[in-house]
Amino acid sequence: MSTAINTNLTQAEKWKDCPECKRPNLYHEGYPYWCQHCEYGLVGERPKPKTLWDKVILHITVKYGEAFLQKIIAEKKHFYHKKLPSVSLLITYFIATVVHLLTLLCFGFAIFLPIHFSWHPISIVGSLFFLYVSYFLKPNFPKKPEEKLYSSKDLPFTFAVLDKIGKKLNTKATHEIAILQEYNAYYGIYGMKAKRVVGLGLPLINALTNKELLFVLGHEMGHGSHGDNSRSFYIFTSVLSLSKWHVILRPVTLWDSNIGFYALGAFPFLLLQLMLSYVIYGVVWLMAWLFYRSSQVDEFHADYSGYLIAGESDAQVALTKMHYGAYFEILVQKSALNREKDPYQLFARLRNKINELPENEKMRITKLIAKEKGSLDMTHPPTIYRQMALKMIDVPSFENVVTDFEIAQMRKELESKEKNTIDRLIDQYRRSLYD
Ligand SMILES: [Zn+2]
Ligand SMILES: [Zn+2]
Repeated sequence: MSTAINTNLTQAEKWKDCPECKRPNLYHEGYPYWCQHCEYGLVGERPKPKTLWDKVILHITVKYGEAFLQKIIAEKKHFYHKKLPSVSLLITYFIATVVHLLTLLCFGFAIFLPIHFSWHPISIVGSLFFLYVSYFLKPNFPKKPEEKLYSSKDLPFTFAVLDKIGKKLNTKATHEIAILQEYNAYYGIYGMKAKRVVGLGLPLINALTNKELLFVLGHEMGHGSHGDNSRSFYIFTSVLSLSKWHVILRPVTLWDSNIGFYALGAFPFLLLQLMLSYVIYGVVWLMAWLFYRSSQVDEFHADYSGYLIAGESDAQVALTKMHYGAYFEILVQKSALNREKDPYQLFARLRNKINELPENEKMRITKLIAKEKGSLDMTHPPTIYRQMALKMIDVPSFENVVTDFEIAQMRKELESKEKNTIDRLIDQYRRSLYD
């Protein structure tokens, strides 16, 4: 059997029997071996959840990813154009508002007590107590990204591309761009002034064609246009406040033997306090569940924005390519271990690698995405659901939002940041060897 198929093989291709079912499969040197017949070797890239928290999030992404996909299949474009927020989102907002109001109330008490009780020592102690509690509970604004941030003066062409996409999607203007060394991109808001920042990973940008890149940029700017970050901030900080309430209220002990007989009297109150702290703990979980559930919808919406900018077929490929990060890691290792002559050709090598990826290997990734419901990280719906949702969109995408020439200018501009990024990547990998 193998003699008949053995023609037309390139040097790197071989037939190799599967260790599991003994049937032959094509094997490409330098890529993982897998079996088309029994799925031997098709084991995932998806990180296995370790903590209870991770397990719950993973459960939510798979379960609601699928549930929302079913909705998209039933409702088609109407899914993306709903006027009214869902009931679960209203509940989430309601609880979050109550929590934030409680924090404000504590702060209010801190001011009210000394004014009303005219600086009585007890009112001052009470005021300091409430001041401390409100400070402890206050929502923290997202921190400034660690990467160096660039303004439109530094990267005019990149900002111009983001602006064009943003205008189509009604996204507010971007303030800053962070150049990332990761195979990734993000949309973020940080600080009290709510600065809008787009994170662009040079490895990802180099792995994508122009139109695939437009999908990713459209997706990220879509997050900005839907206000996902502000909503997340409002809800997530309330979840953090709530978990602090749990800590404040939970008694250290139910029975304090140091106070002797009085412990008996204190016991029912402490028990009540303990129960209340666990009711709050329950609400923390409920809110976290509602939060991650609604962020699944955000991802589908952002994909829709990406689709509008880039069209379906490029969106599909871009989502598959999001799973190609491991090829980049290998290239970084090779450069760091001096296996390559010119380390600064790292991104060129990545482009070649992805252009020349064997069909067999592409199929392995496609199978993995379908089988493992592999998603990019645990907060996104499984990629296969996102890809199926894209197929359901029955509206035309925009034409020529950004020209190839404009993207070429952007790529040229970002090239100036490559050398520094490569140095960092290589240093980081070398350091990791000594950890
Ligand atoms: Zn097999
Ligand atoms: Zn997203």
